[in-house]
Amino acid sequence: MDSGVVNLDSADRNLVQKVLESEHSFAYCISCGSCTATCSAGNFTDYNLRQIQLMVKRGEVEPLRDTITRCMLCGKCQMVCPKGVSTRNIVLQVSKLLKQPVSKNQLTDKLHATDDRKI
Ligand code: SF4
Ligand code: SF4
Repeated sequence: MDSGVVNLDSADRNLVQKVLESEHSFAYCISCGSCTATCSAGNFTDYNLRQIQLMVKRGEVEPLRDTITRCMLCGKCQMVCPKGVSTRNIVLQVSKLLKQPVSKNQLTDKLHATDDRKI
């Protein structure tokens, strides 16, 4: 899933900022790995929530597109997070961003228009 190579030509280096604007709790992540350890999708596939978080921080749009749909949106990850990070909503917001066929500078406005935290 993660080749270890970041393609800067296709990376959206503003992606993490766009996600933070939509889900502020992402800023409190201490990379403890608890969410990854309990992830339902990770138990059955090679989905890795820690890598997803890293890809968001690096702006790796194409690898995210390939993997993020494996999330089952079950919410177990945020139930175990010691910092109260809404990981499920982060995945949801990233998924929505990746589906938008819009230019990068339009993505922030799209995120502001969407709030799924009540799900
Ligand atoms: S459990 Fe919370 S603090 Fe730990 S890595 Fe996951 S999101 Fe970050
Ligand atoms: S919501 Fe997605 S990332 Fe979180 S535990 Fe469930 S399958 Fe894993």
